[in-house]
Amino acid sequence: MSLPIPVCAACGEAAFPELFVCPSCAGTTWRYEPVEHGMLEGSTVNARDGVHVGLVRVPLGPLVVARVEGAAQAGDEVALDADGLVPVARPI
Ligand SMILES: [Zn+2]
Repeated sequence: MSLPIPVCAACGEAAFPELFVCPSCAGTTWRYEPVEHGMLEGSTVNARDGVHVGLVRVPLGPLVVARVEGAAQAGDEVALDADGLVPVARPI
């Protein structure tokens, strides 16, 4: 289980999601590095559909908006995976 994080092929800056142009060097080529975990910095439950959504800081730097499954809380390390194009965070 992992989530692919875009990393600029020219300068190594990570971004999520992939950007049209790298904010550091204006490069336009991205490679992907699999990330297996991150830290849940905060989360909320969408009042409309009950989906638990959180912000996960990954070791490469970016914040990832992810669907949170299970009882993860802010400050917890979480495992990262992808459900199609949707990042998913689960308690470790
Ligand atoms: Zn770059």
